[in-house]
Amino acid sequence: MERTLIILKPDAVQRQLMGAIISRFEQKGLQIVGAKFMQISRELAERHYAAHKGKDFFEPTVNYIISGPVLVMVLQAKGAIAIARKLMGTTFGFDAEPGTIRGDFGLSSRFNLVHGSDSPESAEAEINLYFSDEELIDYELTNRHWVFGNV
Ligand code: ADP
Ligand code: MG
Repeated sequence: MERTLIILKPDAVQRQLMGAIISRFEQKGLQIVGAKFMQISRELAERHYAAHKGKDFFEPTVNYIISGPVLVMVLQAKGAIAIARKLMGTTFGFDAEPGTIRGDFGLSSRFNLVHGSDSPESAEAEINLYFSDEELIDYELTNRHWVFGNV
């Protein structure tokens, strides 16, 4: 089982799209094992986007992610990282494929509704930034067999 960190960014909260976006992940079969509604501090945001430090979009992206509350979640499934990125669509809303979250709900380059970890290494680091071990609940989904088929 793989885990990925998902953030419903301030525009998703303000546009009241949290339920719609969570549904995309749930309907696909990804399991929510942690969730937290919170305000990200500037310090945490700078750590979260540390890989982008020095790029022209770093500062405005930090300002954006701290501009209002967010919903942070950990999703679990076999291949969760790549599956979540596919469901999200490519970075810019105006460019993302219809059928994806960013493609269906946004037009902006920066205000793209959702964050998802992009590799096993970043997923582990990002999950540790937002959650302690006790905050992640390893429970059995009763529909697991029906979602995964042959497991
Ligand atoms: P992704 O979120 O798809 O992994 P990146 O990690 O490259 O994309 O960028 C992090 C975030 O920074 C993006 O989700 C977006 O909000 C913002 N961003 C990235 N590139 C740009 C850009 N050229 N202009 C405006 N905002 C950007
Ligand atoms: Mg990224």
